[in-house]
Amino acid sequence: MLSINHFINGQHTTASQRQQDIYEPATGELRGQVSLASQGEVAQAIATAKAAYQTWSQVTPLNRARVLFKFKALVEQNIEEMAELITREHGKVIDDAKGELIRGLEVVEFACGIPHLLKGEHTQQVGGGVDSWSVNQSLGVVAGIAPFNFPVMVPMWMFPIAIACGNTFIMKPSEKDPSSVMRIAELLKEAGLPDGVFNVVNGDKEAVDTLLTHPDIQAVSFVGSTPIAEYIYTTASAHGKRVQALGGAKNHMLLMPDADLDQAVNALMGAAYGSAGERCMAISVVLAVGDVGDKLVDKLLPQIRDLRVGNGMTPEMDMGPLISAQHLAKVSDYVETGLQEGASLLVDGRNISIEDHQQGYFLGACLFDHVTPTMRIYQEEIFGPVLAIVRVKDYAEALALINQHEFGNGTAIFTQSGEAARHFCHHVEVGMVGVNVPIPVPMAFHSFGGWKRSLFGPLHMHGPDGVRFYTKRKAITARWPQAKLTEAASAFIMPTMK
Ligand code: NAD
Repeated sequence: MLSINHFINGQHTTASQRQQDIYEPATGELRGQVSLASQGEVAQAIATAKAAYQTWSQVTPLNRARVLFKFKALVEQNIEEMAELITREHGKVIDDAKGELIRGLEVVEFACGIPHLLKGEHTQQVGGGVDSWSVNQSLGVVAGIAPFNFPVMVPMWMFPIAIACGNTFIMKPSEKDPSSVMRIAELLKEAGLPDGVFNVVNGDKEAVDTLLTHPDIQAVSFVGSTPIAEYIYTTASAHGKRVQALGGAKNHMLLMPDADLDQAVNALMGAAYGSAGERCMAISVVLAVGDVGDKLVDKLLPQIRDLRVGNGMTPEMDMGPLISAQHLAKVSDYVETGLQEGASLLVDGRNISIEDHQQGYFLGACLFDHVTPTMRIYQEEIFGPVLAIVRVKDYAEALALINQHEFGNGTAIFTQSGEAARHFCHHVEVGMVGVNVPIPVPMAFHSFGGWKRSLFGPLHMHGPDGVRFYTKRKAITARWPQAKLTEAASAFIMPTMK
C-alpha cells in the first residue's frame, strides 16, 4: 500500500492526521492513502519556502536554468516509470501518459531559456543625462494547485517557469493522483535544486484555503473546474495575491460541409474520446453545418464500435477508465439526462464490460445526435467520453452558438475554405482556436488559456505570460551629476586652482 505524504525542505514527511484513499481506476482496487495537510503543515511548507527564497532568488538565472536542464534529462531517463505512475492513478493509456510528460517537458525546455527571458528593456537618454530601464524580479513564495486530469503536465505549466524566475514554490496536486508529483520533487532534488525551493503539500480544501489566505504567498496558479477556479480567484485576490485560475470547458468543433470528412472524423475521435474525454481541451460538441450531419454519423459509428477500451497499462488501448466511481456515476447520470431531454443516444457506453476488470470505472464511448442548445448535456461540462452532435443550418448559426456559450477554452473549425477559417479565427470568442487541428493546445513558448468562464485573471499560463505572471517589473530612472565627468576629464591638464 502506498503512503503519500508531503515533500517539504527536500524531505518526505510523516503522515498527516487526516488521510484519503487513492484508487487504481482500471481495477477499482485501493492503491494506498494520501495525507491531507493541516493548516499548520502548509504553514510549515510556506516558512521553508520563504527561507529558501533568500538564497534561491540570488542564484544567477544561468545556474537556475542549469538545474532545469538536468531535471529534464532525469525525467527523460525515468519516463517509463513516470508514465506508469500516471496511468495507474489516472487511468489514461500509457502512450497518452508519455505524451503528457513530453508536453510538460516542453515547458521545462522553455524555462531553460530564462537568462534570455528575464531580460529587461533599456532606453538611453530619456531626458537630458537621464537613462531608464526595467528589470523583472521574482515575487517570493508562489503556489500551484492542480486538477486530476493532467497530474504532471499541469504542474509543469507552472513550477518550471516560477522557479526559473527565482521564486520558491508550493505545489498542491490533486488528491486523486498525487504520486507522479512526489516523484518530480525527488528528481528536482537529484538535479541539484536546493532544499525548500520546490515543496509539495497534499490535501484538500483546508490546504488550499491556507495557501489562498497566507500572507507569505505572493501568487496562486490554479487549474480545475470553473466553480473552484472562481472561488480561488476571488479568495486569493481578496487576500492581495496575484492569481491565474483556469476553469472548465465545453469545446465545440465547427464542421463545415466542405471539410475533408475522413480527416475531421479521425481528428474528432481522438479529441472526443482520448483520455476518456477527461481533457479540458476535449471536443465535446460538434456543430454539423448544413447536410454534413448524416455523413458524419455514418463515418463516426464504425470508428466508435472499433474503439479499444481497457486497462491503460495494456498496450494498444485507445481509452481507459474514468478517474473514480463517483465520476463514473456522474457522467452516466448525464447520459440519462440527455435521453430524458430528448436527444438521440446513438451509442450508449454504459454497462460496458471489460474482461478481468469488473470493478474498474469504465464507461464506453457515448454519442448523442440532435442535441439542442437548451439541453443540460449541451450547456454543462460533462468531462467524460460523451460527444454531442448539434445540427445547425449555417456557419453564422454555429459561430453564434460558440460565442454565446459560457465557456471559451478551445474550439476548432474543419473546412477547406480559407475565407471561413479566417473569419472564424477573427470573430470567435474563445482563447485557443484550431483550423483543421482538433486540440489546439499552444506550444510551451506561446501561452495557454481560455476566455469567458474558462479563465479568471488576465494572464494565461506558460510562455511569455508565464514569465510575466511570476515576475514583477521594476522601472529605474537614473541621472548622474555631469560635473563628475567634467572633473574626470580635467585630470589630463595641469591642475589649476578654480
Ligand atoms: P477540481 O476543481 O475538482 O479540483 C482542482 C483542484 O482544486 C484540486 O487540487 C482540488 O483538491 C482542489 N479543490 C477541489 N475542491 C475545492 C474546494 N472546495 N476548495 C478548495 N480547493 C478545492 O477539478 P478536477 O475534477 O480535479 O479537474 C477537472 C476539471 O479541471 C475540469 O473542469 C476541467 O475542465 C478542468 N481543467 C481545466 C483546464 C484548463 O486549462 N482550463 C485544464 C485541465 C483541467
